[in-house]
Amino acid sequence: MEIKVLRNILEANDALAADNRRLLVRHGVAALNLMSSPGAGKTTLLERTLDALKAELAMAVIEGDIATRYDADRIGRHGVPVLQINTGGACHLDANMVRRALDELPVAGLDLLFIENVGNLVCPAEFALGEDAKVTVLSVTEGDDKPEKYPAMFQASSALVINKIDLLPYTDFDLAAAMRRSLELNPRLTIFPLSCTTMEGFAAWLDWVRACAKRPAMTG
Ligand code: MG
Ligand code: ZN
Repeated sequence: MEIKVLRNILEANDALAADNRRLLVRHGVAALNLMSSPGAGKTTLLERTLDALKAELAMAVIEGDIATRYDADRIGRHGVPVLQINTGGACHLDANMVRRALDELPVAGLDLLFIENVGNLVCPAEFALGEDAKVTVLSVTEGDDKPEKYPAMFQASSALVINKIDLLPYTDFDLAAAMRRSLELNPRLTIFPLSCTTMEGFAAWLDWVRACAKRPAMTG
C-alpha cells in the first residue's frame, strides 16, 4: 500500500515536471537542478558561476530551503532574479513548487535557470522538476564513500562537481577513488573537481554550463 502511494506521488510529480519542461523549452530556457548535502557549497558555486557568466547569459535562480531566505539574499546581491521557496519542512523540491516559482520569474527573457535544491543527498534525486540536467555537488570534507552510500543521486546526475579541492591536503578524501566510484555508478557523469576559493578547475565547469545554456528557443 505505501509503495503504491509513493508511486502515485512520483507519477503526479513527473506529469507536473513535464509541464515545467514544456514551458522552459518553449522559451528556450535551459534549467539545471543542483543537489547536494547541506554545506557542500551549492550557493557559493552559484555565486561564482553567476559572476563569471552574467555578462553573456540571462540567468535566474530558484532557491529551495526548508526555512529562511539567506541563500536568496546571497544570490540577489549578484544582480540576477531570484525566487526563494521555503518548503516548510519538506526535504526536497517538487515540480509543483517549481511551477509556482516559474510564475513569478521573467522566464521569457532567460537563457538559463538554476534550481538549488534543499540540502539532502537522498530524495531530491527522485523528484523531477523539469530540468535539462541534474548536477550533484560533493565536497571533499564529506568523504569519498558518499557515491556508494547515496548512489541514486550520482546515477541521476549528468554532472558531478567535487568542490573544495583546495582543502584536499587537510582531509583523507581520495579524489581518484571518489571519481572512480562515481563513474562506476554512472559512466555518463562529467566530473569537475574544483575550488570556489582558488577557482582551480572552474573554467571547465563554466564551459559545461555554457554548453547547457546554448539550446535555442523553440518557435510556435
Ligand atoms: Mg545553499
Ligand atoms: Zn525529501
